[in-house]
Amino acid sequence: MVVGAGPTGVALALLLSRSGLTVDLVEAGGRTSRRFRGEGLMPSGLEALAAMGFMPLPQAVRQLPLTAWSFHLDGQLLFETAEPMGARQPCTLIDQDSLLRELVAEAGRQPGFRRLQGQAVRELLRRSGRVVGIGLADGTCLEAELVVACDGRDSLLRQKADLALELAPTPLEVLWFRLEAPAAGPLLAWLAGRFVTVVGPAGSYALFPSARGGVQLGWALEPGAHPPPPAAPGGWAELWAGDAPAPLARLLRALPPEAVQGPLRLPVRVGLCPRWHRPGLLLLGDAAHPMSPLRAQGINMALRDALVAARLLVPALRAGETGAIDAALEAVTAARLPEIRRIQRLQEEEARRADLLRRRHRLRHLLARTARWSGPLLARRWLAGQRQLRHGLGPIDGPSDGQGRGPA
Ligand SMILES: Cc1cc2nc3c(=O)[nH]c(=O)nc-3n(C[C@H](O)[C@H](O)[C@H](O)COP(=O)(O)OP(=O)(O)OC[C@H]3O[C@@H](n4cnc5c(N)ncnc54)[C@H](O)[C@@H]3O)c2cc1C
Repeated sequence: MVVGAGPTGVALALLLSRSGLTVDLVEAGGRTSRRFRGEGLMPSGLEALAAMGFMPLPQAVRQLPLTAWSFHLDGQLLFETAEPMGARQPCTLIDQDSLLRELVAEAGRQPGFRRLQGQAVRELLRRSGRVVGIGLADGTCLEAELVVACDGRDSLLRQKADLALELAPTPLEVLWFRLEAPAAGPLLAWLAGRFVTVVGPAGSYALFPSARGGVQLGWALEPGAHPPPPAAPGGWAELWAGDAPAPLARLLRALPPEAVQGPLRLPVRVGLCPRWHRPGLLLLGDAAHPMSPLRAQGINMALRDALVAARLLVPALRAGETGAIDAALEAVTAARLPEIRRIQRLQEEEARRADLLRRRHRLRHLLARTARWSGPLLARRWLAGQRQLRHGLGPIDGPSDGQGRGPA
């Protein structure tokens, strides 16, 4: 039984059902898509999709390979580095809804797969200290050999199982905007597939072409800070333009106010459960380790969790012995904790550096003024620091018995 049809739950349900197991995938939400979702897939996540047989990405998944990362301080280009930075695949923006749809469609072709949509799990069923199933909001009880909680960062099942989440200090909050096409067309042309970060006196923001069309812009806020007073029409664009390099500033100022959708404030929560399991229950994905949005890690770690979990769980679930299942739960945690710890530490360091540049006006001025020689030095340091954020701690083992084959 898999609870939650985000990237973790969908990928795991697909892998388990492909190996001939019976899987119920229970999702509280309806079929409506979320407007703001993570879009960035790093080579680490693309590698996981390849191991599942989903590379190249199906045509139906809207996708946009990034061309470069570009950093601007006080209106001055500090450095730009081109994708794929030595990887086989460039970091790729995807429309998460269409990726999940494809994975679910493939799971739907497996005889053991069942999807329960619009059904919120409310309770864990227990017998003799072991989790043996779930209770749904409508009172229905479903028994299972194993419950995998992939119910996201606010996981109810984590709370019900009394598994502690150690919260890290919130690095930032993000105000998300969408700059809608066709008005954002000239901006899209200027971006030319780049992920652009801008830091200046008014704050910092990143903008990039969205795989769903238009441009996505995330403005970083100090945790708990209030955004500037609601601006007059065009006020947001004016605020961004104030910190932007001249050509970008012109394009932002030219945007008609109705093309700017948002903001949506998405609180960021970051943390890690030291223990991911109880007898009969496993936490996976954000439920076990809510990820910061910095450098797009959450979906990638979710897919890698699912792949490793499937490899370790399938033999135990086939054997059907509770002892073997619980030992596999321990093994999944042990296999995934080092990468999650390391990636969260690297995200924390990125957040600290960004914060330093936001707050230290003199340092920012100095770097901007000396960009011609400081830029290449910083680019080299930045690139070296990106290796594990892009690739994870190393290759992950693909499934061993055909779970990884591509869509039929
Ligand atoms: C602002 C922001 C931007 C981000 N951008 C990126 C990015 O660009 N790239 C990236 O890799 N990551 C990004 N992330 C992180 C990424 O979104 C998450 O890490 C990832 O979605 C985690 O996947 P998941 O399947 O574990 O959880 P989720 O995607 O949260 O899915 C959990 C699912 O469980 C369901 N559910 C919850 N409770 C119940 C219940 N009681 N019963 C049944 N179902 C339930 C929910 O409806 C949901 O569908 C971002 C995160 C934030 C906050």
